[in-house]
Amino acid sequence: MASYYNENTVIYLDGAFVKSSEATIDLYSQSMHYGYAVFEGIRSYKTVNGETKIFKEQAHFARLKHSADALNMPYSYTADELIAATYEVLKRNNLQDAYIRPLVYAPANMSFNKNTASHIAIQTWEMAPFLGDKLLRVMTSSFQRPNPKGFKITAKAAGHYVNSILASQEAKANGFDEALLTDMNGFVAEGPGANMFYEKDGKLFTPSAGNILPGITRATVLEICNELGIEVQEKQITTDEVKQADAAFFCGTAAEVIGWESFDNTLFKKEWNKTLSRIIQKAYADRVIEKEISIPGKERKEVVV
Ligand code: PMP
Repeated sequence: MASYYNENTVIYLDGAFVKSSEATIDLYSQSMHYGYAVFEGIRSYKTVNGETKIFKEQAHFARLKHSADALNMPYSYTADELIAATYEVLKRNNLQDAYIRPLVYAPANMSFNKNTASHIAIQTWEMAPFLGDKLLRVMTSSFQRPNPKGFKITAKAAGHYVNSILASQEAKANGFDEALLTDMNGFVAEGPGANMFYEKDGKLFTPSAGNILPGITRATVLEICNELGIEVQEKQITTDEVKQADAAFFCGTAAEVIGWESFDNTLFKKEWNKTLSRIIQKAYADRVIEKEISIPGKERKEVVV
């Protein structure tokens, strides 16, 4: 198992900076028993100027509030206060390239009733790309994503991730690197912890919002496509279409942008290095460190007013 902290690690907990090794959680918390908690997955990067920058920090903390509201969890924090606390945690742990995990959880309560208060923790650690840096062998999962009529699927709720764990473990048990889950209608939805895009004939496609967690990285990929003049369409997608694709990739804060080698044992037609997907992967890597896009002929267009 990875080591997330040592005796010097500091976290933010309910307004204070405390040692991770000394922080405790109530075993009677509703979060422990029912998966009733919300969280974020954020990254900070050392930029080209050497500064530490949290990528899209406002969007992540806005989603944390959205998730807490969706689950009726008391949430009294401002984004600015949590962002300042996060920078302080990074500083105290001497981290620049880091993974940041804010978690809002419930107090002791074994009933299903609403609480009058929440707890918040912000933890940071160094983390390599979540799905590695090699092209992935992906399989269609036997698990479907949660039905939006049963869950608030745009919330990053802890309990939803039981579905992710089952799907990912099933893929690995079958010799694959990762799973692709369909929605309750059998259309392509997303990975256990990342959104997906595929590329066909010079165009990109991604599942429409509705049955997915519409990721912040997905939004960034859409921005990059827009800037680079790459056509992209959000639509309902079948697994057969993905098999016919030239390339495909997962994208997420933890995973960043990572290409697929094959889907259900069908190899993709195009060499990864010759795809638009690869250009997007590079553009994303540049963007998070605030580097100008360095692809010849694909410089960011100056807007002349
Ligand atoms: N889908 C799921 C199920 C996820 O857990 C994540 C990771 N948060 C994503 C998509 C990608 O979201 P983001 O780009 O905001 O990290």
